[in-house]
Amino acid sequence: DVRVRFCPSPTGNPHVGLVRTALFNWAFARHHGGTLVFRIEDTDAARDSEESYEQLLDAMRWLGLDWDEGPTAFDAASGGSGGPHGPYRQSQRMEIYADVAARLQEAGFAYPCYCTAEELEVRREAARKAGRPSGYDGKCRELTAEQIAGYEAEGRSHIVRFRMPDEPITFTDLVRGELTFAPENVTDYGIVRANGAPLYTLVNPVDDALMEITHVLRGEDLLSSTPRQIALYRALAQLGVGNGTTPAFGHLPYVMGEGNKKLSKRDPQSSLNLYRERGFLPQGLLNYLALLGWSIAEDRDIFTLDEMIAAFDIADVNANPARFDLKKCEAINATHLRELSPADFVSACEPWLRAPYAPWRPEDFDQSAFEALAPLAQTRLTVLSDITSNVDFLFLDEPVEDEASWAKAMKPGAEDVLRTARTKLADADWKAEALKEAVLAAGEQHGLKLGKAQAPVRVAVTGRTVGLPLFESLELLGRERTLARVDAALA
Ligand code: GLU
Repeated sequence: DVRVRFCPSPTGNPHVGLVRTALFNWAFARHHGGTLVFRIEDTDAARDSEESYEQLLDAMRWLGLDWDEGPTAFDAASGGSGGPHGPYRQSQRMEIYADVAARLQEAGFAYPCYCTAEELEVRREAARKAGRPSGYDGKCRELTAEQIAGYEAEGRSHIVRFRMPDEPITFTDLVRGELTFAPENVTDYGIVRANGAPLYTLVNPVDDALMEITHVLRGEDLLSSTPRQIALYRALAQLGVGNGTTPAFGHLPYVMGEGNKKLSKRDPQSSLNLYRERGFLPQGLLNYLALLGWSIAEDRDIFTLDEMIAAFDIADVNANPARFDLKKCEAINATHLRELSPADFVSACEPWLRAPYAPWRPEDFDQSAFEALAPLAQTRLTVLSDITSNVDFLFLDEPVEDEASWAKAMKPGAEDVLRTARTKLADADWKAEALKEAVLAAGEQHGLKLGKAQAPVRVAVTGRTVGLPLFESLELLGRERTLARVDAALA
């Protein structure tokens, strides 16, 4: 049975790199009919926050990335919880880690290390100067009971260090193929701090073992910790912690941002909240994020999540860095917007038709007028938040005031054509086609094409130079309100 995990630390806002990792684990689990474990790695009290934990749950739910085991049920309303391997928050598993750390020491897989930070630094520096690898030099590997007593008497504290085997570690990465790490490059490493707090290096593999994880799919930044974890895994197997098998590892490529630098958490465009607030559809955003390292077929960018599940093979993931391209992300989202049914599009717009996004009074909103205009918007929007500025002319008493648009549309001569259009519109049958004829005729009188002639009408009525097809918009706005706005513009 395939068992994968998504195990973020609750520090800060969820970012797109993290979502990509969650998505690939989810697609892998679903493709194989396996289990996705959602685990919270919150052993660093100084950096973790409850707010960030809540945001992680909320993000996964919004994205629709359902987990099978986790701190709560995916479906919040179900009242279900957890799973058989809980608790799924590491902050609630501290006794387990203390117990495993003690057993590792008893069996000689780990040892107390009394070296101080200053001593380590001096030796590292010397190794660097001599051109030797600068990892831990093994000084405390074979301390006698007497030496330990001596250090204790000095009042020194100790960390717990894992003893790496003296032979190379080789594994076949699911993305990168066979990799070998020489022992001099992977030296003994800390697993418990001097204050007794267990480190990521311990708790992550211990939980992977206890939760019987079969495949670890995670970012390339964690590749260097993999040989250490494999060695720890082997020790855990000998101690009977977990089911004794080492998971397979696959490291997902880096995501590069602006200037070909790694996309960082601090990059504004990496924040998931930004995409939610701009009105990306979960399926649009996930479709794009899937392309960061994977593709469904050559020359094909658009797919549904079900199609992704059916096709997903970790062996198809590309090891080369992927470039994050916001424009492409938007274009893919736009495609998914068009694929919604008209009714789904209307309900997807709903949050942006209310405060704090909508500038009109709630009582001035007219659902049926909105629904009449919505199909025109659906084929044009990139993100849902743009709906507000496209329809606000319908629900505001007056068009928005935007000096730049006004200056652009009201070039010399524009008032004349607007005045002519006013006369022709007043006599027109109030249907889009007839309104277009009216403005076309007004333009002809002034030697202007339709595009030029309609610009002052649009700005007079909507306050903007761009928007939905003008004549359908005017039809919906009605004769009275349209003419009043044109008059106000001419006054
Ligand atoms: N909590 C770790 C992180 O956020 C998980 C790393 C892993 O997947 O092993 O980076």
